[in-house]
Amino acid sequence: MAPQLSRQEALNYIRAKVDQLLTVMGTLPLRPEELDDETLVALDPIGIIADSFRQVLNHLEEMNAQLALATAEIRAIFDTLGAAVIVLSADDRLEDCNRLALEWFFPGLEKSALAGRPANEICPHAEELAALRRQADGSAMLVRFGERDLQAVATRIRDAAGQHAKTVMLFSDITAQKNIERHLELYSQVFRHIGEGILITDADTRIVEANEAVTRITGYRREELIGQRPSMLKSGLHEDSFYVELWAKLAGSGYWQGELFDRTRDGRIVPLLETISEVRDESGKLTHYIAVMTDISSLKETQTRLDFLAHHDALTELPNRLLFNDRLRHAIERAKRDGATIAVLFLDLDRFKNINDTLGHPIGDLLLIEAAKRLKGLIRRADTLARLGGDEFVILMENAASQLAAARLADKIVAAFKAPFLVNGLHLHIGCSIGIALYPEDGEDAMSLLKNADAAMYRAKEAGREGYYRYSAELSKAMQARLELDAALREAVRTEAFTLHYQPIIDLECHRTIACEALVRWPGAPQGATSPAHFIPLAEETRLIVPLGQWVLKAALAQLAAWQAAGLVLDYVSVNVSAAQLAQPDFSDQVISLLDSFALPGQRLQIELTENVLMADIDLCAWVFERLRERGVRIAIDDFGTGYSSLAYLKQLPIDNLKIDRSFVRDIPADANDCAIAAAIIALSHTLGLDVIAEGIETPAQQDFLTQAGCRKVQGYLHAQPLPAEALFAFAQSALP
Ligand code: C2E
Ligand code: MG
Ligand code: MG
Repeated sequence: MAPQLSRQEALNYIRAKVDQLLTVMGTLPLRPEELDDETLVALDPIGIIADSFRQVLNHLEEMNAQLALATAEIRAIFDTLGAAVIVLSADDRLEDCNRLALEWFFPGLEKSALAGRPANEICPHAEELAALRRQADGSAMLVRFGERDLQAVATRIRDAAGQHAKTVMLFSDITAQKNIERHLELYSQVFRHIGEGILITDADTRIVEANEAVTRITGYRREELIGQRPSMLKSGLHEDSFYVELWAKLAGSGYWQGELFDRTRDGRIVPLLETISEVRDESGKLTHYIAVMTDISSLKETQTRLDFLAHHDALTELPNRLLFNDRLRHAIERAKRDGATIAVLFLDLDRFKNINDTLGHPIGDLLLIEAAKRLKGLIRRADTLARLGGDEFVILMENAASQLAAARLADKIVAAFKAPFLVNGLHLHIGCSIGIALYPEDGEDAMSLLKNADAAMYRAKEAGREGYYRYSAELSKAMQARLELDAALREAVRTEAFTLHYQPIIDLECHRTIACEALVRWPGAPQGATSPAHFIPLAEETRLIVPLGQWVLKAALAQLAAWQAAGLVLDYVSVNVSAAQLAQPDFSDQVISLLDSFALPGQRLQIELTENVLMADIDLCAWVFERLRERGVRIAIDDFGTGYSSLAYLKQLPIDNLKIDRSFVRDIPADANDCAIAAAIIALSHTLGLDVIAEGIETPAQQDFLTQAGCRKVQGYLHAQPLPAEALFAFAQSALP
């Protein structure tokens, strides 16, 4: 076994021997390169030097093995390290990296493929790497690689000569920590900016934190609150027991929620919705209380407003049906107890629908507001005025109510409504009709009192409007019948349970049926309502005339097209049109598309309007007529002479035809007045260049007179009643006398 030498000892020994040798060789005529084995053996006869060499070599091998082990050990540590390590050469080529670095920065690449390549070519985060390398002073730097937050440290390694040899970079993943920081930041932002006030106390109920909303709500700054107790905010409005219960609930369930009033720094009271919760640590020990408070002042205001709206009419701000019924019920209870009388006045504006239809709803609304004001000025303070909806108002008279008092008030109202209302610069005349019902005679409960006052109001309307009427039992029956008729009519419109009859319009000069008027019939009409003169006004009042009229137009045009296909060619079919139909914005479009759908030219249709429709909205008529006239549709004025139309308008509007009303024809030739009127209308039509048709001719004498006066077209029972379609077909093809 060779003696154990330390490396240093071995080197010293070898150095000494070599020196000896060189000294010896210096004395020899020999140069070291000539020193062969033989010479060596000669010089080192006992092999001291060779032996030492061997020993040293053995030792070095052993050390190499140890070094290899140590390197493997370091490599293993390097690769299992919880941080990524990258080693770059001086010229920024990748020399080495550990497993995590591969995974984070060069996913999918083998280390062998990376070695020696410039870092900025292979790394997807080359810029960050470069920045880091430039800094490379061992100080930590935060960088974000993709989803990862990394803390990076780069160190430059210098060689023995002090030259920059390598850069070693070490990255540790601090994403989790960063996330916590971010969350904390988020929570503190929430805490600061949330609309709810958040007040935190310690277990001893001393305030330790308060957010800005608390300051906004209470007026106290954070510094003024910290260290104080929340009781500094007490309003004094709650009994002590309130707080006792609050604490009991909190202690019991760890939670309290409720509404309470606090007092602000400047002494105002604020209503709050507040939640208080306990906070406990892991061991269950109480550490804090958190109170979250919402200022509900505006909510309270909204609630009050909603309450008002629920019981008042938004337009006039008068009590609504709900509140009225409530008051009426209470009034009845009191009256029952005291043996007193109550009066209910049910009020409906006359012709209000006309105003709405012709001037538009905004004007209608303004008029209602004005009407409400006028009514308010007429009633006593103790009376209740309410708006039930639409143009219906109702008045409850409680104190000193009697038939006489109610009638006096009704009189006063009717008289007051005779004066026009000034709305938007317009003077509008609108009357009102009133029905009166008294407790207890006319009804013992709120519902029947209202219903009966309503029925009486209808009676007042039927009796010619602008008046009042006291309820009576027969009235109720009439009202009932009316309601039933309305329901039946509605159903008939829905199921299109109507038919059309056609009355021939005859040209006396060529003895021919040149046209016909379509007149609606209701086969299933309730007793007493079969005549359109009866149900059309009701349909107009309920606006059912709109769908009904549309059906009539369509059915009449369909019939005309069918006759034409069967060989009967009439000049036109004449269809009656009501105001509400005309007022639909798309009325002319509807007419035109119906004509198109039956491939009929406009000339084959005549629409009949009364003078009153014309005068209700002359601008609207002018506009609609213009559209219809472009398509050739004829326009006739029905029942001419019974309304009020201005001759000036007659000239301006594109009118084709006047129809002399039956009432002027009836007493011809006996009544000189009617004769004069009929003759004048005929002359007028000639002057204006209009066609004229006399309606309701029943006798040859009437016809003779009218023919003499220059009227050549007639319509009436003398020739034919309104006929079913087939009968008209036959009639129109037969020769006339
Ligand atoms: P109107 O447009 O003036 O129609 C003429 C009315 O006089 C028809 O009554 C017709 O049957 C009747 N009549 C015709 N010739 C004579 C006669 O010689 N003697 C008598 N006593 N009466 C005659 P009808 O069919 O009862 O219609 C009444 C009113 O109902 C019509 O008056 C019209 O204003 C309305 N009406 C009828 N159908 C419709 C419709 O489809 N739409 C609209 N909006 N109104 C219609
Ligand atoms: Mg007519
Ligand atoms: Mg007529």
